[in-house]
Amino acid sequence: MIKFFNTLSGKSEEFKPLKDKGVSLYTCGPTVYDYAHIGNFRTFVFEDLLRRFLEFKGYKVNHVMNITDVDDKTIAGAVREKKSLKEYTEFYTKAFREDLKTLNILPPTKEPKATDEIPAMIELIEKLIKNNKAYIKDGSVYYRVTDFAGYGKLSKKKLDMNIAGASERVDVDEYDREQISDFALWKKAKEGEPSWDSPWGKGRPGWHIECSAMSMKYLGETFDIHAGGEDLIFPHHENEIAQSEGATGKPFVRYWLHSKHLLVDGKKMSKKDKNFYTLCDLLAIKDDEGKQKYDGVVIRFSLLFVHYRQQFNFTLQGLDAAKEALNRLRDFWLKMGLGYMKENNNVSSLELGTLVKVVREHFTAALADDLNTSEALGEMFAFIKLANKIAPEKISAEEYKEADAFLNETDNMLGIFSGFHFELSDEIKEIVKSREEARKNKKYDVADSLRNEARKKGYIIDDLREGARVKKLL
Ligand code: AMP
Ligand code: ZN
Repeated sequence: MIKFFNTLSGKSEEFKPLKDKGVSLYTCGPTVYDYAHIGNFRTFVFEDLLRRFLEFKGYKVNHVMNITDVDDKTIAGAVREKKSLKEYTEFYTKAFREDLKTLNILPPTKEPKATDEIPAMIELIEKLIKNNKAYIKDGSVYYRVTDFAGYGKLSKKKLDMNIAGASERVDVDEYDREQISDFALWKKAKEGEPSWDSPWGKGRPGWHIECSAMSMKYLGETFDIHAGGEDLIFPHHENEIAQSEGATGKPFVRYWLHSKHLLVDGKKMSKKDKNFYTLCDLLAIKDDEGKQKYDGVVIRFSLLFVHYRQQFNFTLQGLDAAKEALNRLRDFWLKMGLGYMKENNNVSSLELGTLVKVVREHFTAALADDLNTSEALGEMFAFIKLANKIAPEKISAEEYKEADAFLNETDNMLGIFSGFHFELSDEIKEIVKSREEARKNKKYDVADSLRNEARKKGYIIDDLREGARVKKLL
């Protein structure tokens, strides 16, 4: 059983997707006005873990992540740098995609850009006007929050009709987290800003409508999971619910998952406090010999180490500890791999086999409990400590192989040993092809030795239902 903490109900709930074997997942993507920072990446790594874990559990995940390439911040940036919005945002979109690769984050199934989806947004706003949830004022369109009975159900904010704020109109994309106001769905064009034609004249969408329109277009009016950082609960996600449910009359999202904000050295990140790290900043740090000190996977591992709903205080000392811990894991996996590939006539004491059975169960159970990575990794390190005490001559090839297979599974969930961002060389393609051939002819010994050959060259072949998949050791 998988359980997630659902912000909507405020409880941990059993996860049951709408469809038997498929999960629809929407995650709010980056606003591409600058490089993403380590806090953003805590959220993106958590979402990647969520997707990988669901895939490990046998679900086909349809993961949609948008790119916010039109909002107040992107427009202001483009104006400041005297560039077109497209030129300005494409630069940061490309940088973001590179960062995802560095962090071994799987690319989403679909990555719609807001500026490509304006017609879907206009259509949604028209529905809201028709349903008396929105009104036109001076060429802009606003959502009337008092007309949506469910307003506040996600953020637990009470909509008090006497609050003056509830009838105030706000047309900046981000506003005070305490303030409840009628928010802009469509903003009338301002001089010098990019704009699109609409039934209400030239203008551009508000930030919140972008996510409602894109998620429903690609995942349907009701879908399984919507995730993001905790700062998005209000107003962004609250407004998404009001927009989507106000238009369709159906429940919008079944499970809302939010990660807690990352702090750096105990504080909120800010450029002024010099505790603001982009991925590039961290990759540029050198060790005493002048070599790169941290790679992307170490950074990923450090972000995974703390449960996504726990306070996470990022420090460089913490990153050092993560590097050490990850090296311990890597060494252990190497040892298990070599153990079964070497000539091995050992007699089993059954110790390793038993340990693997137990840790496998505990590791997966911890992740099934709201993705508790801290507990899962705790189990893993306890296992390694015990396994390292077993005399090598008492471990059979079969047991080494089981331990190796377990670590490979954890890698599929956590993405810390190997990745998919590479081109397959002809040599590896040939090995994969011969191996498929051998398996078809039931020559499993040949298939195994071909898999080992790939492994020695740094590639891992997994047999999935849909065929062989190759990963590269990092
Ligand atoms: P943005 O590009 O600002 O729209 O943010 C992209 C994602 O990063 C959103 O899911 C935010 O909630 C998340 N985020 C922003 N700051 C932090 C932080 N300090 N810690 C964790 N997640 C964050
Ligand atoms: Zn969003």
